[in-house]
Amino acid sequence: MKGIIVIAALLCLTACDKGGSNDNSSNPSNPNNPSTPVTPTPTPVPVYDPQGTVYSSECDEYTLTEVIADGQGGEEERITQDSTECGYEDPIVDVEVVQDTGDRFDRVEFKVSATHYGEEIDWDFDIEYGTVIETEDGIEIASDGRLGTHVGIIAGEEYQYTFVREPKCEGTVEDHGSFSIPYDCQGYRQGSGTPFYIWYGEPDVDTRIVYWDVIQMYADARYDGLEGRPLIGEPNDYTLYRSEHLVKIVNERFEQWGIHVRIRLIGTYATRSPTSLTYHKYIEDGTLPPADFIANNQNAGAGYCGFAGQTGTFRDHKMKNRYLTFHNGCSADTWLHEMGHAVGLGHGPQTDNPGGGVTFPDFAQGAGGGSVCGPHYDMMTYGGGWNSKSFTSPYVDCERHYPDQYKQYHGTPSGSTEFSATGYAINRVRYDVSLVHDEWEHPEATDNPLEAMVDPDYSEPVYQVIYD
Ligand SMILES: [Zn+2]
Repeated sequence: MKGIIVIAALLCLTACDKGGSNDNSSNPSNPNNPSTPVTPTPTPVPVYDPQGTVYSSECDEYTLTEVIADGQGGEEERITQDSTECGYEDPIVDVEVVQDTGDRFDRVEFKVSATHYGEEIDWDFDIEYGTVIETEDGIEIASDGRLGTHVGIIAGEEYQYTFVREPKCEGTVEDHGSFSIPYDCQGYRQGSGTPFYIWYGEPDVDTRIVYWDVIQMYADARYDGLEGRPLIGEPNDYTLYRSEHLVKIVNERFEQWGIHVRIRLIGTYATRSPTSLTYHKYIEDGTLPPADFIANNQNAGAGYCGFAGQTGTFRDHKMKNRYLTFHNGCSADTWLHEMGHAVGLGHGPQTDNPGGGVTFPDFAQGAGGGSVCGPHYDMMTYGGGWNSKSFTSPYVDCERHYPDQYKQYHGTPSGSTEFSATGYAINRVRYDVSLVHDEWEHPEATDNPLEAMVDPDYSEPVYQVIYD
């Protein structure tokens, strides 16, 4: 076969040569026989693999290392971190806006879930407005008083949230010329001139716990402020134990009686003779931490177990002369009784010293033995003792107050808004009382009255001292 091709080529060469020399048919002047121009042979262009052509790849954990073509005939290395080819998966971050509008108590809430390969991973947030409370499954943001819509960053994304004023139990105000009587959203008569209270609902439905911050002062002769000695100092261990124990048993009772308040002890101090009602000035000058109350545990004076300031107006953002004082020799029910006065409760008509409540005159007062779950007493009435007195409520059954006693009264409410329901009155003012000082409030919130949470209806508290 090869031999035949060679022969044919030779024959052709011979024939062409022959025609070329003996015939003028290739003359360019003859238009019927054009010549073919000679094309120069092109220089061959090298063909390389396109840049990025992968020659080899290898995973080290989630890092992918590839050898690829550089497009010039060479190779280069390409490294990809967190490569899906090596099994890398992006973290799964899910932010749920549970509640985007809130206030100082009813918090804005975001649920955040961040996992990587099924394991929980850290995430962060940047919230300028409000106080962030980290929860088990996200964050809550309590208003710091700066109303309006704000933007925060949660797990890398921006979210909007809004702070509004707290709802109040607004009703009507009857004008009687020299005085006025407010009737709240449920028709309850309030003390003259008192503002409508912050209100989210009846205490059987709104069970949110509110904290009242208390400083306890104990008499201690070592701190008399004289001859270079300090006026305020640390308590001894026994005093500290008593202080903590008192708060503990008060909180146990609050829970038992359906009072949605817990006392938060923020300091116990020793001082000369805390009968002086001026210890609040040491809060204002920074010697003592801010509190809603100062409880003076010492001698209340001859013949008295205790005395207290009484007002129906709270929510003042300033440390007023708010105190309760009781005799160390009296029982812890005196502490509760004086605290009751400080939050506007009064004695009932069955007490030698009737005064009535200044928050809700119709029921923020005590009832005597024989009218509370059988023979028991309301805390705001004289008589009885630690185990036979309580703050009462139409929502709390006698069984919770006295589970092992006078069972014929189980099934009966401990109090009534017709006459005496001190625990109920406490629940109704608990939010306002916690705002005697507001540890979370941002300074701008009160500096700017247009934006401030301060109630425009707010008036300076009327204050009086009530003894025993
Ligand atoms: Zn009293």
